[in-house]
Amino acid sequence: TSSTQAEEKKGKATPSPVTITNPDRVIYPESGLTKGQLADYYLRIVDPMLEWLGDRPVSLVRCPQGRAKACFFQKHDAGSFGDAVKHVPIREKDGHDEPYLYLDDAKGLLTCVQMGAIEFHGWGSKVADVEMPDRLVFDLDPDEGLGFDAVRRAASQLRDVLGEMGLASWPLLSGGKGVHVVVPLDASRAWPEVKDFASRFARAISEAHPDRFTANMKKTERKGRIFLDWLRNQRGATAVLPYSARARTNAPVAAPITWDELEETESGGRFTILDVEELLKRAGSKALKGWAQAKQRLPEL
Ligand code: ATP
Ligand code: MN
Ligand code: MN
Repeated sequence: TSSTQAEEKKGKATPSPVTITNPDRVIYPESGLTKGQLADYYLRIVDPMLEWLGDRPVSLVRCPQGRAKACFFQKHDAGSFGDAVKHVPIREKDGHDEPYLYLDDAKGLLTCVQMGAIEFHGWGSKVADVEMPDRLVFDLDPDEGLGFDAVRRAASQLRDVLGEMGLASWPLLSGGKGVHVVVPLDASRAWPEVKDFASRFARAISEAHPDRFTANMKKTERKGRIFLDWLRNQRGATAVLPYSARARTNAPVAAPITWDELEETESGGRFTILDVEELLKRAGSKALKGWAQAKQRLPEL
């Protein structure tokens, strides 16, 4: 009936393709948000989320007893997820194949939530050819005590330098302390070249602005600076995916934004799972249309 359609449009009546057990279990104790609410969020956000998550090897942060209890990072599946979650064999360094996870629909996504997943992290390549990355990401990790204004400034500085090299980039609020600067690629180069580019780029920036940046992951090297985490750009590394919820206070979400919006943003956790209507509206908006979509060839450095 049309009233059901209206309800579905408002997101009240969309049936979950997966039974969520213990929907009243509190996942976020500081705000009382439950597993059912988290599942509702993912059910609503599934379409924009799959644009990035779909067909990409994915790792999960699972916290079956809620975010304040034990959580673990899961890369492989020995079979406990059933058919809704797909597998892609990926060659490990020692030469044997491991089954990595990937998802391509709401059922797969909600199956993971039912299994206690909160966060979804993706490879920088797709299952069709895991050796050819289609995005670079610079994960800006500020030293403790640095404000978001420093992150904001650092991100726009990266955008400018990348722009001078002919590379367009887009900001993603991580849902945590930082911003990820995402550079979509044409997947014409393999991991070693992409990693080499990311490493050289991060080193060049930190040498040019040693007061602001470090390319060294050692915490002792960070002192008042931003660690330009280029290590997300090696084979097997992951970064949080757009629209993933985070296992952090008040259920923040990794959210695509525009460069203009970043100027007025005060924290990496500006959006939470309770902002799903706004996030959906934004995802369909003109400003975010084509967010991080470009087939860019990596230049020589
Ligand atoms: P923040 O903005 O607060 O730094 P973040 O998502 O960037 O949030 P990081 O700690 O910088 O968090 O982590 C960067 C990435 O490293 C994560 O997005 C994730 O994909 C990956 N990662 C996190 N935990 C693990 C883990 N236990 N094993 C492997 N990779 C992980
Ligand atoms: Mn980070
Ligand atoms: Mn990092």
